[in-house]
Amino acid sequence: ATPMSIMVATGRGAHAGVLIRDAEALERFSKVDVLIVDKTGTLTEGRPSLTDVEPVAGGDASRLLSLAAALERGSEHPLAEAIVKGAEERDAPRAEAQDFDAVTGKGVTGTVDGAQVALGNAALMQQLSVSTQALSDRVDALQAEGKTAMFVSIDGHLAGLVAVADAIKKTTPEAIRGLHDAGLRIVMATGDAEATARVVAKTLGIDEVHAGLSPEDKNALVTRLQGEGRSVAMAGDGVNDAPALAAADVGIAMGTGADVAVESAGITLVKGDLGGILRARHLAVATMRNIR
Ligand code: ADP
Ligand code: MG
Repeated sequence: ATPMSIMVATGRGAHAGVLIRDAEALERFSKVDVLIVDKTGTLTEGRPSLTDVEPVAGGDASRLLSLAAALERGSEHPLAEAIVKGAEERDAPRAEAQDFDAVTGKGVTGTVDGAQVALGNAALMQQLSVSTQALSDRVDALQAEGKTAMFVSIDGHLAGLVAVADAIKKTTPEAIRGLHDAGLRIVMATGDAEATARVVAKTLGIDEVHAGLSPEDKNALVTRLQGEGRSVAMAGDGVNDAPALAAADVGIAMGTGADVAVESAGITLVKGDLGGILRARHLAVATMRNIR
């Protein structure tokens, strides 16, 4: 690779909001044949809004939302923002959390008004030995609508659920078509639930879906595909994506996300939409073609 052509390419990329770390990242990206994308914040806006608050039979919806929002004030997750904002819009009484803890890829826990409260996915409830049976039909129905449903437990018992919906970014469908045309297989890797993930994947024509993944699972998926002889790019925005970004042949940080994602990436997209990945691909392929 001539330094000059690489410089031209990285300069062009920077103009289009595509920051390429070095010649190696550019060359590797021209050879990638599988693109793994995180769902939340990458395919979707990552700014979900609260749609449903459902206590278990006999429960108080307003209190449920107060407790959920109290925990989420300590979290930086896009889901947290939706719950805090939703609670304010619905005038849920404000409560404060102590001993806040974020469980990456699963949810949040803490103490509110002396009660042990947890909010998150089925994996978190399982970890806390809380049965989600009473609401499993409701969760299935919400997920079939493409919503993300999260369980709330109080003192080790299921208290209800909250659900949010996250719109697909306007630029995503066209970018997916372009990436397919560019010869890439597109794989969704998400910590979100299977049903929710499948609705989004089907809408977008994504080739393969892996849901309910922990950060380690995302990492393992990258390694497994590499083991099958694939050359893998991984795009993500969060702390939870950092290990997989680092393991991939090319890590792509969606610039709107966490700094740690940027540190693990060969390519950073300033605007953070999938269209930038397509621009980066065209640039990489064109540059390498000229060099050879
Ligand atoms: P993604 O891979 O789609 O970005 P994450 O790995 O960040 O998703 O989160 C996976 C799942 O864990 C979420 O869909 C949600 O159910 C749960 N979760 C994570 N963080 C939180 C939080 N702060 N509040 C509630 N639930 C959370
Ligand atoms: Mg994410």
